[in-house]
Amino acid sequence: MGKYDFIVAELESLKAQGMYNIIRTIESAVGAWTVVDGKRVLNMCSNNYLGFANDPELKAAAIRAIEEYGVGPAAVRSIAGTMALHRELERKLAEFKGCEDAVTFQSGFCANLATIPLIAGPGAVIFTDELNHASIIDGCRLTKAERVIYPHRDVDFLAKALEERKSAPVKLIVTDGVFSMDGDLAPLPKIVELAERYEALVMVDDAHGEGVLGSHGRGIVDHFGLHGRVDIEVGTLSKAFGVMGGYVAGKREIVEFLRQRGRPFLFSSAATPADVAACIAAVDILMRSDERVKRLWENARYFKTKMVELGFDIGQSQTPITPVMLGEAHTAWEFSKMLFEEGVFAQAITYPTVPKGKARIRVMVSAIHTKEDLDFALDAFAKVGRKLGVI
Ligand SMILES: *Cc1c(COP(=O)(O)O)cnc(C)c1O
Repeated sequence: MGKYDFIVAELESLKAQGMYNIIRTIESAVGAWTVVDGKRVLNMCSNNYLGFANDPELKAAAIRAIEEYGVGPAAVRSIAGTMALHRELERKLAEFKGCEDAVTFQSGFCANLATIPLIAGPGAVIFTDELNHASIIDGCRLTKAERVIYPHRDVDFLAKALEERKSAPVKLIVTDGVFSMDGDLAPLPKIVELAERYEALVMVDDAHGEGVLGSHGRGIVDHFGLHGRVDIEVGTLSKAFGVMGGYVAGKREIVEFLRQRGRPFLFSSAATPADVAACIAAVDILMRSDERVKRLWENARYFKTKMVELGFDIGQSQTPITPVMLGEAHTAWEFSKMLFEEGVFAQAITYPTVPKGKARIRVMVSAIHTKEDLDFALDAFAKVGRKLGVI
């Protein structure tokens, strides 16, 4: 008997249930085509919606920033780590999102961990969608507030829960904007209406909405025309923006409170100059042109239409996220392995990321895929789907 036996047993059990995650290694820049485990494959699973991860303009900005500012800020932001670059990015993000102010964090995950406990102190009530992202769930776990987990997108349930707790001093409704595993949207107009009736705060995590929804990819608030009516927008700089980092955009008081008291802001070092400069370049590109966003949607529409024609179940997505529903985890892993042999990189997503029995391949279409790329992927999906008896 050893002290690690329980861990070894857990790992063995994951393998037996087909839930052991096979993590592949990327050996090139992330583009439409990417070298993975020694093989050049069509990349259909990165969050590189707009192709910014290896964009020449972003790379040039990062290199210039290293020349001017070096490689690291060498401090947390509140002590000695805030550079002119960090402030410039925050001003640009606030302008892009149409908000009063913005504050950046090390990641979107950190942005949620910073914000939820700060807003929802003891006595507060948090209303949270059951399918919210893990970082929202963990943010809620860091509070002593009461938590009401409402069924997915169920605004009637939410309305009743708000009515029952209307005397609570602080009420926070938090939701993903785009649900990352299914690609469906939060019923934000209705949520905002309820929040206004019950004087609740609304916080939306726009990680898969920005760069994708709304004019020039400004996100879900712009998509629904709700500017000024959502208190807190959390964003990530690691998906459509192609780099690394997170942020909160919203009302001036809330952003200021996060700079004063947000724990990841106070106790974890600032983002590097290279990352920040690349993010600034990404926001600049999006503000001047919506060409990439348009191409992303054209590609998504084409791919999804053809997948349905082939007979695949692609769920209820309203965005370029395309979940190819396969049921059991082992089917999804087998499907992913066979796709890879056909030259397509698309990973299986299984429990605990999605519920048991709802394993899938989540295809992420990008603006940088050509029509030939998408046809190549469709051929591979058709071939593997027939072999496995899925279509
Ligand atoms: C990816 C994601 C995050 C985390 O963002 P990172 O910047 O990668 O930490 C947070 N929320 C949602 C909804 C996400 O999809």
